[in-house]
Amino acid sequence: MSFDFDAVIVGAGTSGLSAGAALEKAGKRYIILDKKQEIGLPVRSTGAVSLEWVNRIGMPTDSSIVASGIKAMSFRTDTGKHIDMSFDRNVGLVYDFTKYEKFLSSSFAGKLNIRMNTRVSGISENTVTTDSGSFTAKYIIMAAGPQSTFGQKLDRKSVLVAYEETRKLPARKDFQMILWFSDMAPGGYFWDFADTEETRKIGVCYYPVSGEPPKEVLKKFTEKFPELSGQVAHTMAHQIPLSMPSEKVREGNVMYTGDMVNAVLNTTAGGLQGAFWSGKAAGQSVADDNPSHYQEVWDSEIRPWLLRHHNLHRKIHRNGAKSVGRYITLAKIMPKSMQKKIFGGL
Ligand SMILES: Cc1cc2nc3c(=O)[nH]c(=O)nc-3n(C[C@H](O)[C@H](O)[C@H](O)COP(=O)(O)OP(=O)(O)OC[C@H]3O[C@@H](n4cnc5c(N)ncnc54)[C@H](O)[C@@H]3O)c2cc1C
Repeated sequence: MSFDFDAVIVGAGTSGLSAGAALEKAGKRYIILDKKQEIGLPVRSTGAVSLEWVNRIGMPTDSSIVASGIKAMSFRTDTGKHIDMSFDRNVGLVYDFTKYEKFLSSSFAGKLNIRMNTRVSGISENTVTTDSGSFTAKYIIMAAGPQSTFGQKLDRKSVLVAYEETRKLPARKDFQMILWFSDMAPGGYFWDFADTEETRKIGVCYYPVSGEPPKEVLKKFTEKFPELSGQVAHTMAHQIPLSMPSEKVREGNVMYTGDMVNAVLNTTAGGLQGAFWSGKAAGQSVADDNPSHYQEVWDSEIRPWLLRHHNLHRKIHRNGAKSVGRYITLAKIMPKSMQKKIFGGL
């Protein structure tokens, strides 16, 4: 049977673009479909990633897409516990998210074959149906993010709400990343990330057990820490799946990647690396005409890494900020080199 493409990829976020880059490099026929209008917009991520993992899984590091480097960080509770760390080199990056995704779509592996403004309404065997026609492909890579109605349904109780305000605040001299754990943000944390010389990213993510809107929660936290208040330049809000990584990521010729399969590091709520890695593995498996290889890489490399973070997150957050505080106290008695290895490689 002949198909229009070797693969149709649904979603042009990090995981879909990473899958597309693998197929582009292998010279395969593929198309990426996305309902939104422009790559990298709306902004869906702070863009903070660990450099160790970025290098390990081959994410881009071009200076043109990096807003700032992370050399010094602080983990705190809002009750006064803290552990501070500084390094003689960058251990993390904060991407300029829009530039980062545009780079993936056009320069990382060459110009990818993407069709925007195209909403996928159904997938069935080898056919992907959209609001402007249908496409056939040997394989389908689903990279449609946390709110997708396709594939396994995420347990809504295990999804964090996340909200960020880019505020007009001068770059800090001491830390490029501060995370505060607080009972106001169950399962998640508040953050202060470096952005430009004149702006910082202040945000919060949490399991929405109280039902209080995140904007309100962030406002209350800012009242407690007025050093974080500043004029709001941009806002962004979305969801982050935060639970056990999925077991099954392939059904026949269909592969699921990124947020759709909880490829999010539960400790940091960082999903860019899991999205990139799973997308790349799915793309490579399709390029090799060996779809079971994706499930193998997931089982042997990606899922165990996610599971370690999932288990640690459950322990650390067992009793809210109180237990996080206990882990901070424990971490402080570790040798400095061990502290740096653990926190610097998150
Ligand atoms: C506020 C916030 C801050 C964050 N900060 C960080 C951070 O600092 N570091 C980090 O590592 N992670 C962070 N994350 C998480 C990270 O952004 C996500 O895990 C990651 O972007 C997921 O990538 P993805 O490709 O799986 O999904 P997405 O990026 O959501 O991409 C899915 C794409 O599919 C498209 N789509 C969906 N349905 C359809 C359809 N029916 N038809 C066509 N197209 C469709 C969507 O338009 C979208 O473009 C943050 C998330 C939030 C919400």
